[in-house]
Amino acid sequence: MADTIFGKIIRREIPADIVYEDDQCLAFNDISPQAPVHILVIPRQPYEDATQANAATLGHVMQVAARLGAERCPNGFRLVTNIGPEAGQSVQHLHIHVLGGRAMQWPPG
Ligand code: 5GP
Repeated sequence: MADTIFGKIIRREIPADIVYEDDQCLAFNDISPQAPVHILVIPRQPYEDATQANAATLGHVMQVAARLGAERCPNGFRLVTNIGPEAGQSVQHLHIHVLGGRAMQWPPG
């Protein structure tokens, strides 16, 4: 698949505010935060979106995202992964948004 800006972050070709990493994934603050806490969790393997990832990878990034949210947002948080143009996916490398630190609206826009 095509390289993306997240591939460059994984390879340390561009900077990011990394808050967690392990052998399978990386988590860093979103450059354009939509909430007081807005972290992106990405697998090192460059799957285009959640439909492409294997279960182990998807499970791991979701688990890391949930742990980071629970650590930073004691009153609750939201995990989101956008898939495709109508959902607003702008980077074609699977990522889980961890959003929290404020009350959320439902339904989402
Ligand atoms: P999507 O719209 O694909 O669901 O989410 C992509 C996210 O990546 C957006 O929230 C956007 O602000 C974030 N983003 C795009 N480019 C960069 C970057 O270079 N660094 C960081 N930290 N976040 C980025």
